[in-house]
Amino acid sequence: MSDTAPFRLYNTLTHRVEPVEPLEPGHLRFYSCGPTVYSYAHIGNFRSFLTADLILRTARAIGWKTTYVSNITDVGHLTEDDVADAGGEDKMARALRSPEGRRFANVWDLARYYTGALLDDWRALNLIEPDVRPRATEHMREQILAVERLIQTGHAYETERGVYFSVPSFEGYGKLSGNERLDRLIEGAAAESRDVVQDPDKRDPRDFALWKKDPAHLMQWYSPWGWGFPGWHLECSVMAMTYLGETLDLHAGGEDLIFPHHECEIAQSESLSGKPFARMWVHTRFLQVEGEKMSKRTGNFFTVRDLTAPQAEGGRGIDPLALRLALISGQYRKPFNFTFDNLRAAARHVQRFRDADERVAAALAADAPGDDIVGERLQRLYRQALDAMLDDLNTPAAIAAALDGVKLIGGIGARLNGASARSAKAWLDDIHRLLGIVRPESPTEAPETDPLAEQIDALLAERQEARRRRDFARADAIRADLDALGIEVMDTPEGPKWRRKPAV
Ligand SMILES: [Zn+2]
Repeated sequence: MSDTAPFRLYNTLTHRVEPVEPLEPGHLRFYSCGPTVYSYAHIGNFRSFLTADLILRTARAIGWKTTYVSNITDVGHLTEDDVADAGGEDKMARALRSPEGRRFANVWDLARYYTGALLDDWRALNLIEPDVRPRATEHMREQILAVERLIQTGHAYETERGVYFSVPSFEGYGKLSGNERLDRLIEGAAAESRDVVQDPDKRDPRDFALWKKDPAHLMQWYSPWGWGFPGWHLECSVMAMTYLGETLDLHAGGEDLIFPHHECEIAQSESLSGKPFARMWVHTRFLQVEGEKMSKRTGNFFTVRDLTAPQAEGGRGIDPLALRLALISGQYRKPFNFTFDNLRAAARHVQRFRDADERVAAALAADAPGDDIVGERLQRLYRQALDAMLDDLNTPAAIAAALDGVKLIGGIGARLNGASARSAKAWLDDIHRLLGIVRPESPTEAPETDPLAEQIDALLAERQEARRRRDFARADAIRADLDALGIEVMDTPEGPKWRRKPAV
């Protein structure tokens, strides 16, 4: 598509909407910060994963090749990672002690479980699977080597408590987030009221942790500086450069990551390579729910499954595609207010796409004779949708064009002959590839279709019976058998449920 407008996005680094210009023309290599798997990801997290997904879809729509890396943080993200000392507790360790966490034997199981849950939600919302989904715990060697190299080159130093990146050793620190943030950081680090262990041996209050020495930590590795674990920012630098090279075309994440996470990623990466790290930084604004900040305390905190699980399982039974459409209905860099009205409207829209899809399938089967009476107009509408996406992911305009197309198909009714239906089918496919809202891409396999379902149900019934007799040894033995078969059993108020453990 040589006549398309350039693909433009807002670059946080330059404060401008700019053309996306891959280093290798026609091949976009980008990295998007993934979740910390200590809990279910919430809809705000997913809004930023959706931005990455839409970047990918738009790039592919203009014929680009894409290499997309999105990580899983399964160690090292502390509760107070907003300050340079990286204080507080590891989020994974804290989650293990929480009421929901107590069912896990250890922090590794907890990470595995929530990684599986993330992948389920990811698929339910039609997010394209990354080419690489690296995990922090699987890249320890690379992280240790990076710290060693930073020490050798004078960008890092060791104290009794850890290894720190020396901020004064890197001139560009602050270029992404702006200097006023530095002042705030210094104040934050110096504030006595914060319950943060300050390392008195740090040379500059802005210096941030690359390695924390902690022989008592639940997840620890041996390093040249003893037992411990890496600082959170390090994994993204190391994994991005491992899979995408020293300079990426684009790096994305939520706006909360601009500082300190992304600022620190730049400092580490550019000190390691001597080259620019990411040419473009794209950040998704936070969402509010019904006009308020989403928070567990006010009860307006939602995970994907809170909304999409069937009502019988405590969810709200929302169609995942309606949730996807609602979450992308506002442009990524404008403040977004998620409301239930909006969600209901999205559900109606998704239903219209589905109806159109079915009507077109029926018309294709009937294949009535006649000229194509929709093709040209639909093509124009696709063009409008694509142009909107190329213009800094203007999703509201793209969705409006898509809905106009659906209306057009619906308005033709019985006159939808074979030729028109073929055009309409091609259009629906194109719109779906661009926005991912027409049909589910990977229907989740229901347990009923599992070849072992009957056997598993019988074992579960036997286990229930054993528990009723208080024969816990037998009940445990059955659970162990199921575990060996790769079946995870979840005891819920409505009785036991099972699923295949995700292959992670
Ligand atoms: Zn990251």
